[in-house]
Amino acid sequence: MSVNRTQVNAFIQAASAIINANEAEVTALDQAIGDGDHVTNLQRGLAALDALAAELAVLDWPEALQKIGMSVMSKVGGASGSLYGTFFLAMAKSFKDKDMSLANLAEGFGAGVESMKQRGKADLGEKTMLDVLIPVAGVLHKAAAESWDLPKVLAEVNRVAEAGCESTRDLVPTKGRSSFLGERARGCIDAGARTSQLMIAAIGGVLAGGAV
Ligand code: ADP
Ligand code: MG
Repeated sequence: MSVNRTQVNAFIQAASAIINANEAEVTALDQAIGDGDHVTNLQRGLAALDALAAELAVLDWPEALQKIGMSVMSKVGGASGSLYGTFFLAMAKSFKDKDMSLANLAEGFGAGVESMKQRGKADLGEKTMLDVLIPVAGVLHKAAAESWDLPKVLAEVNRVAEAGCESTRDLVPTKGRSSFLGERARGCIDAGARTSQLMIAAIGGVLAGGAV
């Protein structure tokens, strides 16, 4: 799998479109067990990345990911800003001197998830976006080890991302703002899990339909 570096802007646009299309649903989720600003936080970050489109298109992956991480870190408020910022900066570091192969993507995504876990002191089962990102990292790792073709990778990534998102419904949050509600947050999907699942689906859609 090779991904053209100019596709980075197609990924950003697809992520923005899916977040905008699901704005009302995600805002309701974050209002139910958070403070309701999650979509706005993401939209601010995605708009900042869109403004960097021309610069990003001429960078190689490590530099583009570094710029994305720095921008997200400084522009996105809330917990999700520093967590996603950390994710992309770790991915940038992992990609140094490497091309965008499935094996390198698996390694880079895994490094991003690890650094997010450390930054947020969170793990699987705490009702956060990690309940989507950790299983996706696992699928990428398996896909690289077994050299899956792209349709299989995308189908399996979407399947575990959706299952991970849905799994947050019955969890009691132990990290982030929603943890203040404890048991009362059970029964509601985590907003951050939903948006990470949506953005992963959107990026997969670009890969499925674009020149890969
Ligand atoms: P804030 O909670 O500061 O208002 P956002 O609303 O932008 O920030 O993001 C909330 C989302 O961030 C949650 O739905 C959850 O998925 C994620 N989150 C919060 N804390 C953590 C953490 N420690 N580790 C991983 N994800 C977290
Ligand atoms: Mg919030």
